[in-house]
Parts: sequence; C-alpha cells; structure tokens
Amino acid sequence: MATRRDFLKGALAAGTLFGAGQTAQARETHHVPEGALGLLYDATLCVGCKACVAACKAANGNPPEFSTVDHLWDTPLDTSGYTFNIIKMYRNGTMETKDSEINGYAFMKTSCMHCADPSCVSACPVSAMTKDPVTGIVKYDPNKCIGCRYCVAACPFGIPKYQYDSPTGRIGKCELCRHRHKDGHYSACAEVCPTGATLFGKTSDLLAEAKRRLSLKPGSITTFPRGRLGEAAAPGVTWLPEPDQSYEGPVGHYQQHIYGEKEYGGTQVLKLSAVPFEKVGMPKLPPYSSAATSETIQHTLYGGLVMPIAVLAGLTFVAKRNVKPDEGDEQ
Ligand code: SF4
Ligand code: SF4
Ligand code: SF4
Repeated sequence: MATRRDFLKGALAAGTLFGAGQTAQARETHHVPEGALGLLYDATLCVGCKACVAACKAANGNPPEFSTVDHLWDTPLDTSGYTFNIIKMYRNGTMETKDSEINGYAFMKTSCMHCADPSCVSACPVSAMTKDPVTGIVKYDPNKCIGCRYCVAACPFGIPKYQYDSPTGRIGKCELCRHRHKDGHYSACAEVCPTGATLFGKTSDLLAEAKRRLSLKPGSITTFPRGRLGEAAAPGVTWLPEPDQSYEGPVGHYQQHIYGEKEYGGTQVLKLSAVPFEKVGMPKLPPYSSAATSETIQHTLYGGLVMPIAVLAGLTFVAKRNVKPDEGDEQ
C-alpha cells in the first residue's frame, strides 16, 4: 500500500523536475506612496489620558468593552474587533520618572501601522484587505471578507482582530478614519489629542517633523503642532479649517530611532519614544517586508505551475501503487 512517504517521493521528484531552472528571487519591498497619509505618535508628549481611545470608539461606532466587574467604564485591555486603538503603559521599578527606562513609566499607542508593504493585504485570498494606491491607507471590505483570518495571522503587529460574536464574521482594525475624510475630518485620535502626541498628516511631512525633533537638544524648548500637520489630503478632500493649535514645550530625551521609517520597508504610522521600542512592545523588524518573500515563493510555486504539477504527480504515483493487477494480467 502506498504511504505518505510514497506520495512525497513522487511530488518531490516532479517538483524537482519541473522546478529546475526556476530561481526564487524575492521581489522588491513596496515603499510608502508619495501621497501617503499617516500618524506621528510621540510617546514623550503622551499623558495617557486615553481621549484617543474613546474618540476612536465613537468615530467607528464601536461598543465599550469591560475588564472590570462593575461594567461601568469602557476598559479594553488590548486591541480587539471593537477596539482599534489603545494606549499601553510601560512600568519599571518605582515608576518615578516619566519616559525613563529604569524606575520609570511610558506610554505607547497600538493601532494599525498602515505598512508600505502590508502582510495582511498579501495574505488575504479574496482582496478584502487592500492598500489605497494614493493615500496608502490599508482598507478593509467586510463584503468581500470570508472570515478566514489569514490577515490576523500575517500581521507582525497583531493588529487585525476578529469579531467573534459577529454572525457575518468581520475583522476590526483602524483605517485612519477614512470614512470621515469626505466631511473634512481626519483621524479622530489626532483630532482630540490634547498634547499633539498623536499628529495626523502626510507621512513625508510627519517624517520630517520626527527628524526635526530628533535633531534638537533634549530639554530645549520647541514648538509642537497639534491635530493635523499641513494641508495635504486625499484627492477631492479638503480638511475643515482649524485654528493654529501649536504650543511650546521641552524636547524629549528621544531614542535616536524613528520607528516605522525603515521597519518592514516603512510604515505610514511613525513613532518616537524615550524608552527603547522593544521595551514598549514594538517588535524588532527587518527593513523588508515578509510579504515580499512569501509572495515570491507563492508566485514561483504557483506561477510556474510547479506545485500543482508536483501534487498531481504525487497523486498519480500513489494511484499507480494502489492498483493491483487483475488475476489474468501478465506479470
Ligand atoms: S489622546 Fe493623546 S495624550 Fe491622550 S492618550 Fe491619546 S495619544 Fe496620549
Ligand atoms: S499593521 Fe498589520 S493590519 Fe496594519 S497594514 Fe500592517 S500588516 Fe496590515
Ligand atoms: S485613525 Fe481613527 S480608527 Fe485609527 S486609531 Fe485613530 S481614531 Fe482609531
């Protein structure tokens, strides 16, 4: 009787035969598009008020989630199918000093990074996750989603979350509040942030602002914008006018690292922190996306028909082994 080993032998032989001569070269990692919109989160300006968490819930029509027995307040402990943005806290020792790694505390925002080359988009078999070619916003279409949760497994930041109680099986994640853009509103988290710790704008402008802050002397006084940086918007969108909300404050003791500038080929959400990013929950990632590698492997296997031919050959091999000759057949 043919065994799994027989099948694999057949498949391997066919795969080797048909795959010979095909070289798997990783495609280029995609980069942030020219008109990309995003956020700059500066942890040194964050006071942990969570106004951004509440505003995100309201903007997306999400219900409260409770982690206390009294069920009085919306107290999500992490992102979920109904919580697209959360502020987490780093604690060490006596927790005396804000933004200090030792005996200190710090905040960190967790929401979709709007990757330049998103794994969630690459993994989705039905294109329910797509990246807008102009704004770069990673969009989700519940009408296309089949609830397979490949995007959940693929995201290096653990962002897309499944709404387990949804009869239709939906994913919940930040889409940079794109549904509000047509009315001249931008990301609700940035609109309400009282300190400008979360700032909305064109990713290239936000990157320049982040670099400016890193170039300043820690403790010196500088101007911090609040809300939105610049006028750049999506095509056909004009932001509602707002007064200048900038203010003067001391420059933080930043790590010389803009998280998202290079990670994974770049992300449209950028972060600054005084505490090393690994300590505040941001994964250490290479400067290229996993989507580039995995798509190359998929395309090599399926594009060259190597995998289907290998499977067919394996099945044929097994079938031949399983056919017993009839009594009268010549041996
Ligand atoms: S609203 Fe601003 S200051 Fe308040 S928790 Fe959110 S990012 Fe921090
Ligand atoms: S952070 Fe995750 S969900 Fe957001 S774009 Fe990147 S891979 Fe997709
Ligand atoms: S951009 Fe909108 S959906 Fe995304 S975290 Fe901010 S408020 Fe939430």
